[in-house]
Amino acid sequence: MSKVYFSTWNGELVNNVGKPQEEWEESAYNLPAQYDDHRSSRAFIGWDGVTLFDEDVDVIRLAMEYAAQYQEYSEACGRCAPGRWGGRILYDQLDKIARGEGEVADLDHLKEIGKSMQITSKCEIGKTVPNPILDLMTHFEDTFLECINEKKPSKHYNADASYIAKITAPCTDACPAHVDIPGYIEGVRDLRFDDSLEATRQTMPLAHTCGRVCPHPCEDACRRTNLDEPISIMALKRLGADYETDHGYDFFHPMEKKAPTGKKIAVIGAGPAGLTTAYYTAAEGIEVDCYEELPVLGGEVTVGVPEYRMPWDKYQEDIECVRDMGVNFITNRKITADDMRQFEKDYDAVMVATGTRISKKVRCDNEREEIKGYWGAIDFLDWVNLYEKFDIKTPKEVQEKQMLPTDHVDLTGKTVVCVGGGFTSMDVVRCSIRAGAKKVYMVYRRDEKTIIRNTTYEEYHEAVEEGVEFLFHSAVNKITTDENDVLTELLVDKFELVPDPDGGRPNLEKIEGASYTIEADYLIPAVSQSADLDLLPEEWDIEMTSWATIKTNGKDYMTSRKGIFASGDCEYGPMTIVNAVGQAKRAASVMSRYVEDGEITLTDEEIMEDHLMKLKVYDKNEKITGWLPGLPREQAEVLDVDVRKDNNKEVNLGFTQDQALTEAERCMRCYYIAMVQA
Ligand SMILES: Cc1cc2nc3c(=O)[nH]c(=O)nc-3n(C[C@H](O)[C@H](O)[C@H](O)COP(=O)(O)OP(=O)(O)OC[C@H]3O[C@@H](n4cnc5c(N)ncnc54)[C@H](O)[C@@H]3O)c2cc1C
Ligand code: SF4
Ligand code: SF4
Repeated sequence: MSKVYFSTWNGELVNNVGKPQEEWEESAYNLPAQYDDHRSSRAFIGWDGVTLFDEDVDVIRLAMEYAAQYQEYSEACGRCAPGRWGGRILYDQLDKIARGEGEVADLDHLKEIGKSMQITSKCEIGKTVPNPILDLMTHFEDTFLECINEKKPSKHYNADASYIAKITAPCTDACPAHVDIPGYIEGVRDLRFDDSLEATRQTMPLAHTCGRVCPHPCEDACRRTNLDEPISIMALKRLGADYETDHGYDFFHPMEKKAPTGKKIAVIGAGPAGLTTAYYTAAEGIEVDCYEELPVLGGEVTVGVPEYRMPWDKYQEDIECVRDMGVNFITNRKITADDMRQFEKDYDAVMVATGTRISKKVRCDNEREEIKGYWGAIDFLDWVNLYEKFDIKTPKEVQEKQMLPTDHVDLTGKTVVCVGGGFTSMDVVRCSIRAGAKKVYMVYRRDEKTIIRNTTYEEYHEAVEEGVEFLFHSAVNKITTDENDVLTELLVDKFELVPDPDGGRPNLEKIEGASYTIEADYLIPAVSQSADLDLLPEEWDIEMTSWATIKTNGKDYMTSRKGIFASGDCEYGPMTIVNAVGQAKRAASVMSRYVEDGEITLTDEEIMEDHLMKLKVYDKNEKITGWLPGLPREQAEVLDVDVRKDNNKEVNLGFTQDQALTEAERCMRCYYIAMVQA
């Protein structure tokens, strides 16, 4: 709810004109009434309407300034005449009226041009720019006529005023890294793969990776869904990256690296969050030392995500792109609290991006680390991946404890039970199949729908095809071991969903008498992970969240200790690559300014980004006109189950060039302009 003077946002008409403030009706939308800590907003105008928070707003100038933003954009774009010429006429006519030189006929002309742009512009920005302008002309016609008839400038035509605009898109808003999705899709469509990749790398340095294993929340906010099916946004991203790699080009960086500033930061952890921080701060001319405990770079994407989903040679390209920006990597170096005390003196700022690499327990009877056959998911996947990707052998003590016949994870003839329901558990069960296990179970408390939501539809179905048996509404109750403390059997309870008599969410209740046992060799808990934060000196007393991650305000990512920042899973809890990248990109921007002036600030672009995320750009109820429905989404070829299940070949082969072009053509290029008067 927002207190407004007037609003047409999203078809809602709130008109408090002429009413005393205490009687003002509120808008149902989360509109940006407060621009930042120091400034309130006076007006907000965008693709879906206009909102005035203040009675004194100059509505003619507001319309003119909005048209000016579009004119600047359309000059640069130039893709269609209605957009380009329409934008110029809108601006010129509104400016004429605002100067006090308008005529009544100009109003009709403006309406006509606006309506024609709504129908004939090639992309959404041209179609939507007239919406709020026409709203203002309709509801404040008297104000326009007064200026025209009295030949006087609009009321604040010459006053200092601040208009802050941002271009967005529904998909871009929903991507945690705010990737310019229409931009990179356009690059694919125009066969300008270099432009496509540069559009991605403006905010997301891991293009190979997020073109393969991102859970693509952007696709849930694709307007094409309102017509037929969402664009295959993720799959189109890897085109640019594959093009660069396959042709052996130098890295296409979207920016010139700035000259050295003499400032220096330390980044702890070389996973997605650490790599992203390093890339964007190094681009600003800051010297970056990135410390990594493991012998390899890349964090969980290297040692968690298996080769058959994310080939190491491709991820390595993303990492090399970061190194190419001039980042100094130091591997095999676990940072301790003593190091942190020293780093605080040696560096201008420090980023903690250490992830969540401790597997949580299942919480069942007789659950003990020392049981032979009890193997935390993170540790299990480390040894699978270090061997498969780098030929690093499993150490003797792990081999002995886990009764491995070889120096790598070989589960031939074994029964594996994994408890989980997210990405990690999927990787455990599919790696177990590839390691030769005789039988693999996934025990999950909830249902199939939830597991698909936690991972992806494809991932779940591929696991089923490969032979994983899913035991839904089930939970391990007890571990049984033999006299040598070797795991032999698991007692599993069965649950059912019981409707809440008060109409709330159904509850999971144990079905008495339905428990059963599974003979098993391994239990691999993959329920969740926690963060090892021993590196934070106790006396710093850094504030934590209630779920034991590092607390920040989620906007600038500084911790409660000045100059110490945190991002990625150790800040948010176990999440996704793109979430880590989005946080770290923002943090890098804040750190780049902080090392110069000691202040924590956000740019206008970032402030607007946060407002739009709150407001939500995608509208699932929107009725889309002007585009043909019924164009099916392209499907990439996937390796046949018999060809893939006993090896690490990449399963998803990606689009052919023809498929990519057809898919890119489906994109409606839904750019929108939003603007605040502060
Ligand atoms: C098995 C598995 C599969 C996944 N699959 C997907 C997927 O398909 N798609 C997706 O989007 N997300 C997936 N995720 C989640 C994703 O990998 C994480 O959200 C992401 O890697 C988090 O990035 P991060 O940089 O915060 O942490 P991490 O990737 O965990 O990186 C942290 C790094 O810090 C290092 N480190 C820790 N402590 C220290 C220290 N004291 N000194 C020096 N270095 C230190 C660690 O060794 C590690 O390399 C998966 C996670 C797992 C575990
Ligand atoms: S159609 Fe294209 S621009 Fe529009 S929301 Fe979908 S991906 Fe984004
Ligand atoms: S990074 Fe993920 S969420 Fe963002 S555009 Fe790519 S697929 Fe979508």
